[in-house]
Amino acid sequence: MMPLTRLSEEQALSAEARADLYARHTEASRLTPRSAEIDAVWRGLYNTPTRDELVSALRAMSDGKCAYCECVDPRDVEHFYPKSRHPERMFRWDNLLFVCKTCNLDKTSRFPLEGTQALLIEPSAEDPARFFWWDPVTGRPLLDSEPTRRRRAEETIKILPRLKHQDLAEERRKLRLDVLFFLTEVLEEVPRPPDVVARLATLLSPTQPWRSVLRQLVSEEPTVIAAVRARAPELAPLLDALPPMPPRPLAPLPPAP
Ligand SMILES: [Zn+2]
Repeated sequence: MMPLTRLSEEQALSAEARADLYARHTEASRLTPRSAEIDAVWRGLYNTPTRDELVSALRAMSDGKCAYCECVDPRDVEHFYPKSRHPERMFRWDNLLFVCKTCNLDKTSRFPLEGTQALLIEPSAEDPARFFWWDPVTGRPLLDSEPTRRRRAEETIKILPRLKHQDLAEERRKLRLDVLFFLTEVLEEVPRPPDVVARLATLLSPTQPWRSVLRQLVSEEPTVIAAVRARAPELAPLLDALPPMPPRPLAPLPPAP
């Protein structure tokens, strides 16, 4: 999961689309949770210019990828607060994400709350890397040790099991190794290999899948990255576009023997 920057509704949507969503929101706010009409009210948006606009704004927010698993095949508008339980949030811009079929079906209406706090991580509201990241060797999730964050990471992965799926772990592991190999080639080959720089530019593009593992790689290898920046300055904007990982508190020292 990558942190996402959500534009304001005014920046993301036209005045017409916002007015349409507001009218639908007013209608949806009258519905009670689990009402049989919820799906029909949502389907009223289908095949409208507003939905097209909404989809393209949400797609842009996650660089054309699933906001949860980072695959390149998102298709569904996802209600972070499920519309079955929170119809009053059904048409709210800040409750919507664009996700793949698998993540949407996995989540369905699973949405545990602790008090008013959602346990699922919303990537436009919080940096997912504060809660979990990837094991560089296996590509599998590693969870923060702080109990509250760990619990939210566990719940997020339980709700979205695709995040720990072996195929995706393998994709992440392989991507990390490929990029590390190409970075080394840029530094070691004389003359500088243009095809390798072009390959790296493709792999570092924001529209590529599993980018969170590259974000982590860039933070973990500052010396390599600084040298690559100097040797291939055209890659610098792509490297800069990967947000730094949040600082992580040091693990406590093991007890003295
Ligand atoms: Zn997904």
